[in-house]
Amino acid sequence: MNVPFIDLPAQYAAIRQEVRGQVDAVLESAAFILGAYTRQFEDSFSRYLGAQHTIGVANGTDALILTLKACGIGAGDEVITSVNSFVATAEAIAHTGARPVFVDIDPGTYLLSVPQVKARLTSHTKAIIPVHLYGQPVDMDAILALTRGSRLRVIEDAAQAHGARYGKSMVGTLADAACFSFYPGKNLGAFGDAGAVVTADAELATRLRKLRDHGGIRKYQHDVVGFNSRLDGMQAAILHVKLNYLEEWNSLRREHAQLYTKLLSDVAGLILPTVRAGSTHVFHLYVARVIGKSRDALRDFLQHRGVSTAIHYPTPIHLTPAFSYLGHQRGDFPEAEACADSVLSLPMYPELKPSQIEYVAELIRDFMKGQA
Ligand SMILES: *Cc1c(COP(=O)(O)O)cnc(C)c1O
Repeated sequence: MNVPFIDLPAQYAAIRQEVRGQVDAVLESAAFILGAYTRQFEDSFSRYLGAQHTIGVANGTDALILTLKACGIGAGDEVITSVNSFVATAEAIAHTGARPVFVDIDPGTYLLSVPQVKARLTSHTKAIIPVHLYGQPVDMDAILALTRGSRLRVIEDAAQAHGARYGKSMVGTLADAACFSFYPGKNLGAFGDAGAVVTADAELATRLRKLRDHGGIRKYQHDVVGFNSRLDGMQAAILHVKLNYLEEWNSLRREHAQLYTKLLSDVAGLILPTVRAGSTHVFHLYVARVIGKSRDALRDFLQHRGVSTAIHYPTPIHLTPAFSYLGHQRGDFPEAEACADSVLSLPMYPELKPSQIEYVAELIRDFMKGQA
């Protein structure tokens, strides 16, 4: 049996007609950059989230950079975020001139540790970027309790958590702004790069609309030094179609996660993902930890039997060459370092079949029992 890590062609096959209809409409109208199709998706995404403003941008990294810039963050400022994330979160902070201040993770959820955020607050801190990693919402009440009554900005990195709920609220509506990526492999993915910022703050929304399009709302009016970071009409039209399936796809991901957990829960030497009470995990990734045996040997074992896995992430950001300028060393963030050496992401996508999950689980059981 073959179990890819993700199967985008299978997803396309299910929505081919609708997508082609929309793409054709964009081609016929030539509304390629911003325009009607971008507005249509921005409106539908706002409605879906129960949000005020969605500003479509070129990708999730730009969503973070533009949001930090729109909040006035730059040289001399500090922004606190998780050391366990995709590198883009830290890159965005660095590109504004601010200093990324890392915190270690909670060992149970792999999300940033709130007590450590509190411990790293200084007079230079301007913002906190909680990352809803793997599809699980951060405890936002605890984060917002730290910033209440201050001018500190809280920006959700929601790139892995489209459709996740925190209590009754949607991820993306919980703080000053939220940044989404629609990279093809994300829970809501475009057919290329795309991203968005969501906010209830009208002033911030206007600044973001200017920043994404050369500093102005109207052509050749340049109020600030901006960027070219626009969501194009083709991607927006595709996202508009796919948004209608997001809830269904996320429930399938949750069912798949439950099946993995049911089949693997009694396997010694394996730590399975936990879901925090009161929130909905959308399982962008199903990340297990291999403690009893070699993670890399298990990975090879699975690969040889047709099962592709991945590691999110092999190097905690403080140990990447790119961020060596911050002066960290191994040992600074022990929980994240232990994770990097032991995490394994199992195949996870809506189109996965129960028989494929059973096959993966059986192989893992065999390997972990040492009979492999
Ligand atoms: C994917 C991702 C990003 C960046 O998004 P791009 O669209 O690839 O630029 C940022 N943060 C996290 C946590 C991500 O997973």
